[in-house]
Amino acid sequence: MPLIDELVALLGPERVRHHPLDLAVFAKDAGVTSGPVVAAVFPETAAEVAACVKLAVTHGVPIVPRGAGTGLAGGAVPIDPGLLIVVTRMNQIHEIDEIGRTAWVGPGLINLDLSTSLASRGLHFAPDPSSQRASTIGGNVGTNAGGPHCLADGTTVAHILAAELVTADGDIVIVGSDAPDLPGLDLRAVVVGSEGTLGIVTKVLVRLMQNPPNAATLLIGFSTIQDAAATVSRIIASGSIPAALEMMDRPMVEAVEAFVQAGYPTDVAAVLLAEVTGTGQSVADTTSLIESIAHSNNAASIRVATDSAERALLWKGRKSAFGAVSQKAPDYYLHDTVVPRTRLVEVLGQIYEIGERHGVEMLNVFHAGDGNLHPLVAFDANEPGMFERVRAAADEMVRASIEAGGTLSGEHGIGIEKRDLMPLVFNEADLDAQARIRDAFDPQRIMNPGKVLPSGSRCFDASGARL
Ligand SMILES: Cc1cc2nc3c(=O)[nH]c(=O)nc-3n(C[C@H](O)[C@H](O)[C@H](O)COP(=O)(O)OP(=O)(O)OC[C@H]3O[C@@H](n4cnc5c(N)ncnc54)[C@H](O)[C@@H]3O)c2cc1C
Repeated sequence: MPLIDELVALLGPERVRHHPLDLAVFAKDAGVTSGPVVAAVFPETAAEVAACVKLAVTHGVPIVPRGAGTGLAGGAVPIDPGLLIVVTRMNQIHEIDEIGRTAWVGPGLINLDLSTSLASRGLHFAPDPSSQRASTIGGNVGTNAGGPHCLADGTTVAHILAAELVTADGDIVIVGSDAPDLPGLDLRAVVVGSEGTLGIVTKVLVRLMQNPPNAATLLIGFSTIQDAAATVSRIIASGSIPAALEMMDRPMVEAVEAFVQAGYPTDVAAVLLAEVTGTGQSVADTTSLIESIAHSNNAASIRVATDSAERALLWKGRKSAFGAVSQKAPDYYLHDTVVPRTRLVEVLGQIYEIGERHGVEMLNVFHAGDGNLHPLVAFDANEPGMFERVRAAADEMVRASIEAGGTLSGEHGIGIEKRDLMPLVFNEADLDAQARIRDAFDPQRIMNPGKVLPSGSRCFDASGARL
């Protein structure tokens, strides 16, 4: 194939993978969809990315940007035979400005590696997706990733100051800046969360945060889901926003305990994991406040960890939750919806009912503080009709969340998975406005086509006349 020959001439045979076994590996992300891959290439510089883009455009082959492939919405999976531009070799920390609290990093840098390498300076990168041991900063930018500690600090978009982007024309541009108040349109915010549809991020200017001097982690057990959810609402209503506020139901707690023995109580209906950070007195005050709210909502047990080993163990339990499900069944389908916190109990009730009605086994672990639900269905895809049941249940859960005033996704993105559900939250004019922005970046629609926006979102021709 001429495109592959030209890519090999550009990058060498080692960095152009097109053997059927390689293509099978890259046909999927961590979600449930797979797609046809022409080749996967591994550039090391923005100039190489730009050259790959130009070759793909010349040959009319769709381009799909890819990081670690841990996405759950099919964002890094091509729909039509496509060229995967995998940025994992662009994993350098280019420069750290300790005074300005920023760093320029490569998009292939693994999220946790950034914070680990900043530890001796007392700094960290705040977004901490549970996949942070594997997912890349570029992928985090692509999906606007969240994580337990994004409750107080905000999701990825709040921590990206600028990005270098290779556009569909093969141009290398920078959106955003380290200036405190950049005039003009905020294209940086448009690029974050655009799931590779506006270009390929080749460098990122990240904001660095100071490590807190003190922290406490509370593990609170409840005999009912209702009491746990009411505690979440009361904590948020108190105005003292903890650094993190996570919830797990009993099936998930049991799976985690069997997997990593984090010391969670298995005789309760739900646990809350709350983290408080700050200086000694403020941590003590907020910890007491959370304890008293939990007591007044019938907490069955409260454990407070202040030493770093015990806190790390409690967090290991939370961050291993998805892996723990592998003990239950060979496959899982992980949902990601958002509901108003005040309606957590009601929507959770509906979600359990939907799971039961479709006969699927479900475990729940989620970012309770921001109402971001993650019902997780464990299943065996080899069982006839099972996948269809899982998908039907998933659709109903999304609809229930939206009917309660919530939205489609809290952090995993839209990708292919939820593309056709976008009209549930956006009207025709909203979708058209988004499609116009995409077309301004990529008029040929060669950059990750078919993702995020449902087909037919663009209702106007290039002159602005309605089609
Ligand atoms: C066990 C597990 C736990 C998870 N926990 C969380 C969580 O807590 N929070 C959360 O938000 N997500 C979570 N995820 C989902 C996933 O890890 C995140 O979406 C992550 O940000 C994806 O990063 P990645 O490097 O794997 O990107 P990929 O999967 O490779 O790509 C994701 C999207 O970003 C685009 N993209 C990737 N790199 C670039 C680039 N350089 N330029 C432009 N676009 C690009 C891709 O085209 C695709 O649309 C979890 C996934 C798993 C498997």
